[in-house]
Amino acid sequence: MAEDNEASPDCVRITLRMTPQQRDLLCRAAAVAGLPVSTFVLRSACQAAEEPPIEEQPGASSSSVESLPTFTKPARQRWESIPADIRKRLLSNVWCGHCRHETTITHFSGTIKGADLLLVGQCTACHGDVARVIEGS
Ligand SMILES: [Zn+2]
Repeated sequence: MAEDNEASPDCVRITLRMTPQQRDLLCRAAAVAGLPVSTFVLRSACQAAEEPPIEEQPGASSSSVESLPTFTKPARQRWESIPADIRKRLLSNVWCGHCRHETTITHFSGTIKGADLLLVGQCTACHGDVARVIEGS
């Protein structure tokens, strides 16, 4: 092993730690690819770097707004069946009788009333009680 040209700025030295089995596998893979092992390793590394990162599953409980501890189970199920953009709109155009204009509901809880989903919470502006009924279809 005569890799002693540390001074060369173009030379990047990569040390791979692997088991003999991994090394054997790598050598065979390189042989199959018809490349020297070093070239094969570099090419693989470059390919890996170019691959886009694996995207997270959409809708996989990553929504920040809605951890819903105060929802009853059926209410939660109903609420979660509504598309997120519509939910956002439902929350942001709640009538506040104190403010006398539309407001956003916060700290809300959800229950099922008959066929309807009832959200009860607070006005973001005056912290008065507000409610929103989402009619069952
Ligand atoms: Zn208000």
